Amino acid sequence: MSPGEMLDVAVEEAQKGLAEGGIPIGAALFSADGELLGRGRNRRVQQGDPSVHAETDAFRAAGRQRGYRDTIMVTTLSPCWYCSGLVRQFNIGALLIGEARTFSGGHEWLAEHGVAVTLLDDQRCVKMMQDFIAAKPDLWAEDIGE
Ligand SMILES: [Zn+2]
Repeated sequence: MSPGEMLDVAVEEAQKGLAEGGIPIGAALFSADGELLGRGRNRRVQQGDPSVHAETDAFRAAGRQRGYRDTIMVTTLSPCWYCSGLVRQFNIGALLIGEARTFSGGHEWLAEHGVAVTLLDDQRCVKMMQDFIAAKPDLWAEDIGE
């Protein structure tokens, strides 16, 4: 599976979240050979739970894995510090990001610590976040703790 196809899964999740009235950030965890292990989306609004970020939702959906070194975390947006901490804590080997224009979290820090980071600069992801931030600035400020 190509990086673009993996990102498509995360984008689908983000679109689902947007349709639910939530924050449009999606993620998926893949094995190195492209098997989908888990997928998820930010559900702060839907579940009233600020700890359900896209990456943590996908991570939990994947259940117990023997190791994470050979897994790839795919996310539509540069991961916040909380999710960057998750990647580091579990030694997830690779991170594939849709975009880091609307928000830049911890991906450079992760790269410094040996995570293979790929930034696709996907225009769908940029537009989705720009439109969302313009429409719901208060909700976005809440999500990033500002
Ligand atoms: Zn996060």
